[in-house]
Amino acid sequence: MTRPTVSLIEGDGIGPEITAATVRAIEAAGGQLDWERVDAGAGAIARHGDPLPAATIASIQRTGLALKAPLATPSGGGYRSVNVTLRQHFDLYANVRPARTLAGVPSRYTGVDLVIVRENTEDLYAGIEHYIDPRRTAAESIAIITRFGSERVIVYAFEYARRHGRKKVTLVHKANILKMSNGLFLDTGREVAKRYPDIEFDDMIVDATAMKLVIAPERFDVIVTMNLFGDILSDLAAGLIGGLGVAPASNIGDAPGQPAGGRACAMFEAVHGTAPDIAGKGIANPTGLMLSAAMMLDHVEQRDAAARLRAGVMAALASAETRTGDLGGRANTAQYTDAVIRAMA
Ligand code: NAD
Repeated sequence: MTRPTVSLIEGDGIGPEITAATVRAIEAAGGQLDWERVDAGAGAIARHGDPLPAATIASIQRTGLALKAPLATPSGGGYRSVNVTLRQHFDLYANVRPARTLAGVPSRYTGVDLVIVRENTEDLYAGIEHYIDPRRTAAESIAIITRFGSERVIVYAFEYARRHGRKKVTLVHKANILKMSNGLFLDTGREVAKRYPDIEFDDMIVDATAMKLVIAPERFDVIVTMNLFGDILSDLAAGLIGGLGVAPASNIGDAPGQPAGGRACAMFEAVHGTAPDIAGKGIANPTGLMLSAAMMLDHVEQRDAAARLRAGVMAALASAETRTGDLGGRANTAQYTDAVIRAMA
């Protein structure tokens, strides 16, 4: 078995706590990985004067693989989101966020099993913004949607559906109002869908999708959408399965000739943020990062270790004695991690 090296970003806030827990769990699951620890985020400014040091970029370029805890991003002014910069630099165009009901985790629904594939590099997040006058009385943000960017992420969603035995792809948009940008995304989806006659395809306006996700989330399978809608809907989907603490994500790039030296580059991270309100208290829930690590183990073809890690997480989540406080349990981070590891033995 090859032993890939992973660029490991411990992140800010609860990042170091959930990273330590996740590394322990991966190793106990038999994951064969070497770690290259690199810095990013608010902590990196303090240590290197730069939220995204060149050494971090160089490491990910070399390894093509990153496991990343959350990074603090100032709202309004301050430096640009390092998360967005990393996704754009490495052209990680597909953000994959599964949301599946977890037995034992308190939530309003049962039977949720959907995946949101979010375009990760374009739309309003392309970073094209300006004030229109020196007094800053108005501002413009420009959404960029290209046929190239739309096609590759929609193809990714269909290929993902095929690979994972899923039946249907729903394209989410607002093409009734944004006729050109969202119309382009929808037209591209209709074209791509013709190449996948084995997968059912439909489309839905984003506002109706938000409502239907709340009324009947079990009706959705794979959702593919643009950057902003994907960001919002995937947090909504995390809420359907018990909250941000348990939601994993991957950011996938695969185009040859991209910055990782022609190699596919992939970054795995929890959906939640740095949780500054509980940082340093030893009570954070590492499930989101652990399930992201399981996606990473699948990605590097270490499927047995991925399955063991998932099984350990499911077992520890099943009892209030071993769940963390955010899920109504009584365990702290270390006790939960011990339970995950015990269940794998
Ligand atoms: P947040 O996700 O950090 O916290 C929201 C709430 O959920 C808080 O009450 C927090 O305590 C709780 N929570 C989140 N993760 C948890 C966990 N693992 N265990 C237990 N409780 C958990 O969102 P926020 O407060 O809006 O953002 C805080 C910072 O994180 C901001 O600087 C934001 O920019 C950043 N952020 C980073 C990422 C990322 O790096 N991918 C994602 C989202 C937010």
